[in-house]
Amino acid sequence: MMIPQLSVVIPVYNEEAVLPELFARLYPALDAIAAAGTSYEVIFINDGSKDRSPALLLDQQSKRPEVTRIVLFSGNFGQHAAIMAGFAQVRGEVAVTLDADLQNPPEEIHKLLTAYHAGHDYVGSIRDLRRGDAWWRGAASKALNAIRERTTSIKMTDQGCMLRAYSRRIVELINQTREVRTFIPALAYTYSMTPTEVVVAHAERAAGESKYSLYQLLRLNFDLMTGFSLLPLQIFSLLGMTVAVGSVITYLGLMIYRGFTLPFWDAMRALLDRDILQFFLTGMVLFGLGIVGEYVGRIYLQVRDRPRYVIDRIVEQTGTEFPAGASDIETARNLA
Ligand code: UDP
Ligand code: MG
Repeated sequence: MMIPQLSVVIPVYNEEAVLPELFARLYPALDAIAAAGTSYEVIFINDGSKDRSPALLLDQQSKRPEVTRIVLFSGNFGQHAAIMAGFAQVRGEVAVTLDADLQNPPEEIHKLLTAYHAGHDYVGSIRDLRRGDAWWRGAASKALNAIRERTTSIKMTDQGCMLRAYSRRIVELINQTREVRTFIPALAYTYSMTPTEVVVAHAERAAGESKYSLYQLLRLNFDLMTGFSLLPLQIFSLLGMTVAVGSVITYLGLMIYRGFTLPFWDAMRALLDRDILQFFLTGMVLFGLGIVGEYVGRIYLQVRDRPRYVIDRIVEQTGTEFPAGASDIETARNLA
């Protein structure tokens, strides 16, 4: 096989229920793209699945060895680490990421390619419908988009959709990024010179359940926020300053009003009269402390400098670099 033009990167975590349907729809969609002149490869990253996903992936690899590569992680390192590992393998001039659960229809990939060929080095996507998820997921998704929009300089209409295209240059920049626990689309946006967005169809998860719990979703958004903005930290210094200055002004105001007779603690009590205010301020302080902790934690992870993922093995046809015709059999390449 020649060097492909398009590399499709798909993270897989416990997706045995959807993989057969994914294969049945993905490959025909890509074959149609290939027929139109863009050769492709698919890179699946098994993110430490505990179900039959690895077996299904390996089986598919043996069916379409010339266009399929499998990266097997030694454990669960998260969706974005999986995409990072996929990016390290990309051979095409353009990479497309996709979720395995068919929420991003493979039939929409060509739309991203059209935008890429029109000169955009990064093509984001906007889901035209968010069906099939619990209502709170839709509401949370809207709220988180709004918060991210205000706290970072990342302009993404819809951060929840992973169906996106990245030019080779951006993939390489992302590969050079040593940041832990990052958010690929935001990183790509940061590096992009001509970003754009297209509207893509969105479906229910074809089968299985979301691999993100509410906590993990929150975690991901904390990573996105603290990874791309210092504003959360700065808000707390501003807030602290405002409360401090406000209390001094209130104290002075009270003194003037009462003819400079009121002792300090009476004035403070007037301020903190109601328990509710105290609870609020304590809550603020703890929240602020937590945010500082988020950044300290990030710094800690970064200085620890552990690998972001560990690869068990990569399964691909040998001699992939050579023109088609070689009768190579599937082999496992150990990267240990
Ligand atoms: N995923 C992964 N590792 C994880 C969690 C998820 O590789 O730890 C993959 C998952 O298999 C899917 C994609 O990331 O291909 C998105 O996950 P999911 O559909 O569960 O997220 P949601 O759509 O609910 O946000
Ligand atoms: Mg999903």
